[in-house]
Amino acid sequence: MTQVEQERKLASFDSAKLAEVYHTVNGVNNLQRFLDFQKTIASDPILRFDPEELALSREELISLYFKKTARIHQVYGISSMMVVEYVYLIPHSLHATVHNLMFVPTIANLGNDKQVAKFVDDAISLKIIGAYAQTELGHGSDVQSLETTATYDPETEEFIIHSPTLSSTKWWPGELGFNATHCVTHAQLYIKGKHYGIQTFVVPLRDMETHMPLKGITIGDIGPKLGFHTKDNGYLRFDNVRIPRENMLMKYAKVSKAGEFSKPANERVGYATMMLVRLKLIEGASNYLSLVSSIATRYSVFRKQFKDEDGKERMILDYQTQMNKLMPLIASTYAMNASYKKIVTLYHEMMKQIKEKEDFSSMNELHSILSGCKSFFTWETLLGIEVCRQACGGHGYSEYSGIPLAFSAFSPHVTLEGDNTIMALQTARYLMKAAQKALKGGKLLGSVEYLKHLKEIVSVQRCQATSKSDFNLEAIDKAMQANSAQLLWKVIQKFSTLMGEGESMKEIWDRKAGIDLVEASRAHIYYFTFKSFYENIRDNVKDEAVAKVLTKLCLLYGIQKLLEFPLGLAESGYFLPVHFGYLKAKKEELLDELRPEAIALTDGFAIRDESFYSALTTPDVYGTLYDWATTKNPLNTGKPNEGFMKYMKPVMGLKPKL
Ligand SMILES: Cc1cc2nc3c(=O)[nH]c(=O)nc-3n(C[C@H](O)[C@H](O)[C@H](O)COP(=O)(O)OP(=O)(O)OC[C@H]3O[C@@H](n4cnc5c(N)ncnc54)[C@H](O)[C@@H]3O)c2cc1C
Repeated sequence: MTQVEQERKLASFDSAKLAEVYHTVNGVNNLQRFLDFQKTIASDPILRFDPEELALSREELISLYFKKTARIHQVYGISSMMVVEYVYLIPHSLHATVHNLMFVPTIANLGNDKQVAKFVDDAISLKIIGAYAQTELGHGSDVQSLETTATYDPETEEFIIHSPTLSSTKWWPGELGFNATHCVTHAQLYIKGKHYGIQTFVVPLRDMETHMPLKGITIGDIGPKLGFHTKDNGYLRFDNVRIPRENMLMKYAKVSKAGEFSKPANERVGYATMMLVRLKLIEGASNYLSLVSSIATRYSVFRKQFKDEDGKERMILDYQTQMNKLMPLIASTYAMNASYKKIVTLYHEMMKQIKEKEDFSSMNELHSILSGCKSFFTWETLLGIEVCRQACGGHGYSEYSGIPLAFSAFSPHVTLEGDNTIMALQTARYLMKAAQKALKGGKLLGSVEYLKHLKEIVSVQRCQATSKSDFNLEAIDKAMQANSAQLLWKVIQKFSTLMGEGESMKEIWDRKAGIDLVEASRAHIYYFTFKSFYENIRDNVKDEAVAKVLTKLCLLYGIQKLLEFPLGLAESGYFLPVHFGYLKAKKEELLDELRPEAIALTDGFAIRDESFYSALTTPDVYGTLYDWATTKNPLNTGKPNEGFMKYMKPVMGLKPKL
């Protein structure tokens, strides 16, 4: 029996039941679907992971991943939600992720019926492949300052798309380099010399037969990156490219044949449906962390280092510091997963209100949650992957561990679809507005409901706990709420003081209060996440043993997050030094109690052994590492290295000239 199998027996709960909880979203149990997907990938000769792919050049990888993308399309259809949700089990990016997540939804949501009929079916069948070409060399986050122009020519009823400067070159969009036949692009609209702001256009890029760039299109790949090696992030320049009037996406904003521009009736509907993209990034954060924390935890029960008092080698997971690295990440994975589910429910409720009553009242709230969770979850996962890498010592640094690949694949998530700092500041803006409303006696609902008592919360001087055992869910809830409210209060005071000294709101926001705003936003999102976690346990977990272990994880999550705010909690006076001591002691107790549950908790993610693309999760870790290094590594040819013989051999023994 392997060590992992022995560990499974130590658990106090049935991990199959936990897996059902983890994979149930909005009342739908997706566990079997997830397991079937894994089986299909593992049994398909093209789709399954082969360690030899780790030795391929970027060019070879790109070609291999075209083969895999084509295969996925044959098996599932490229737009299948399964493919979108479970791509984290495929080591490199497939060639149609942006096509699926950005190109198709943009047309589906911003296009009128005719445009949807014209493009969406073709996109789903991959007859056309699309990029989402928004970002330029000069501007990304600041979309309003994009420089690409779309000038309407009423004579021919065409738009002329043009890149007037070097900095207006579209730069970064995935699929542009080699893949896309079309793109949606964002450009400043001009009609008869008048400017109408940023609008969205569908532009054909490559010939449908030869796949060569069309007239006026300069296009290519932007070169090597930290990761995303298979992804053809590209550049694109337009030289007075003419497209028909019908290619401006016109569900909301419209340009008539004669060149009259009409304003969107309600562009928020379009935005609401685009929120799904951010939701997928939030889902991806817990998925990637589930993958990597499972690798590190399994390896940690396999790996032994140093002997105990009886002379027996200790497995590294038995070191308290190792548990301190891994168990909080497992707790965060479950916490983020619970929040994701809550957001899915909120999203469906919002869409129902919009569709049935044209009621957009919950949209700002959801936008703020999505922006904040996107930021703090993707940051947590990226840093968590690095922690897992270190937790696997030297072998974590090897590509054969699977961890470097997960790190490089996940790393852009903190930047793309909205830079994390900017997203966190959007949540802060919502919090500031909510606080102002609360101070004027207005009604607050949803994630900010607790702020209606802002003044009372910040006037409560101190945490009431007198021992570590007082830190139950309720006490942690109170402390997290106080922390979040206090940090927000502090930034409100800062604005008030500086505005009193004559500073403008904009200057304070940009140059004086950014750090405090992001901290307030972080504390609020952690509190939202903690609450989502325990509500999910309370409302959806029927099995007692599973509920018990999840409650421990939830406590650990809350404690871990509170310990990340020593300054705020000390400054506000809510915690005395003794309270930090209680929290730390409670955390140590939880780490100890959760130690025998570790493997079963990662089993709850339901990732099958063959899905890991890692040598560290195989039963014979050293045997696999040795096998992959000696037989799957083309550098080991059995002959001296060519470069060595050519350059090193002649200088060996020479004395340097200087
Ligand atoms: C792998 C990858 C794939 C991508 N795919 C696509 C794609 O398919 N299509 C597409 O259009 N784009 C794509 N992008 C581009 C991406 O969306 C942008 O890079 C991203 O939105 C960040 O914008 P930026 O590069 O302009 O960063 P910047 O805004 O220049 O940010 C640089 C720094 O300045 C800070 N900063 C900027 N403004 C503020 C502010 N107001 N307050 C505080 N701090 C600020 C940021 O926090 C950041 O630290 C991709 C990027 C990557 C890395």
